[in-house]
Amino acid sequence: MRKIAMLTSGGDAPGMNACIRAIVLTSLRYGLEVYGYKHGYNGLLEQEYLNLRASNVTNIIQRGGTILRSARCLTFMSDDAARLAAKNLDALGIEALLVIGGDGSFRGAHHLSQHWQGQVIGLPGTIDNDIYGTDATIGYYTAIETALDSIDKVRDTADAFERIFLIEVMGRNAGFIGLNAAIASGADQVMVPELTRSCEDELKNIIDHIDAVKRRRGNNSYIVVITENLWPQGVTQLAQTLTEETEIECRPVILGHVQRGGSPVSQDRVLATKMGAYAVEAALEGKSGVMVAEVNQQLSCCPLETSWQTQKALDPYLVKIQQDLFDLLKRP
Ligand code: ATP
Repeated sequence: MRKIAMLTSGGDAPGMNACIRAIVLTSLRYGLEVYGYKHGYNGLLEQEYLNLRASNVTNIIQRGGTILRSARCLTFMSDDAARLAAKNLDALGIEALLVIGGDGSFRGAHHLSQHWQGQVIGLPGTIDNDIYGTDATIGYYTAIETALDSIDKVRDTADAFERIFLIEVMGRNAGFIGLNAAIASGADQVMVPELTRSCEDELKNIIDHIDAVKRRRGNNSYIVVITENLWPQGVTQLAQTLTEETEIECRPVILGHVQRGGSPVSQDRVLATKMGAYAVEAALEGKSGVMVAEVNQQLSCCPLETSWQTQKALDPYLVKIQQDLFDLLKRP
């Protein structure tokens, strides 16, 4: 192999730059030419790429975002677009393409592999951690830290004003950030899709819990961590309902995109570096149609489809602890 390329796609995640750096340096170490396509799959279609050298990745390990930029590219869903991408990759002489992104980006990589003879390898880069087959994704640990930092700050006001705060965290349709940030911050309640069967039951559950906790503690301060997209009418409406039902002022706080940015924490930098180096070595071994994964600190490759065909479950022990603490808080 002489030429390898990469792109970052979907939502950006802290640690993507650390991963790009590891891919570039490992490729150069093995004597490969290494290219970076810009703006996700758009770069493949537009032939927008950089020939990357060590100097391009100096001093980026600590930076959030991605120096290659990221983007959604809906046109990439078509067969014509995948064929054009294949033609462009061949024109540049690329033999392996590494895709850093979430499960959507991996579907895109799989789609490309139906039309391109080169090797395709995915690296899980998303704050949501909703990718089956790997313990963690690049960016996930930093997102928990960012959410935690904000929850700790909101708690000060919740205590001072004796208010209820509903804090919405990211996660798309998965509760990894929510559950972990709730446990780490000592939140009173967490609402994540995996543990919420009926919104009506959940509402009643929370109102009863707020009442019990108020009697136990003798104050009105209460923190709920909730995953985005969970409450059908949105958290602002849920906050209004809780204010009316409990007669305690409830305020929504939507953390939003701050969770996607920032300097990656050490776990994300190390994970990204390991995965980036491993992906290049997997490419040199001829692997294709796979995702790099880490399970119990062991790196391996699994089929790309694994990442979206099975839903990743929350840690059952963490769920049990959360439930036990929730029940304990209710006791008189
Ligand atoms: P995140 O969940 O962190 O935002 P993601 O990779 O899942 O990351 P998506 O927006 O779902 O983000 O997908 C990123 C891009 O991957 C899409 O904009 C599109 O270019 C490509 N893609 C997604 N699904 C497909 C598909 N079925 N076929 C071809 N390309 C796809």
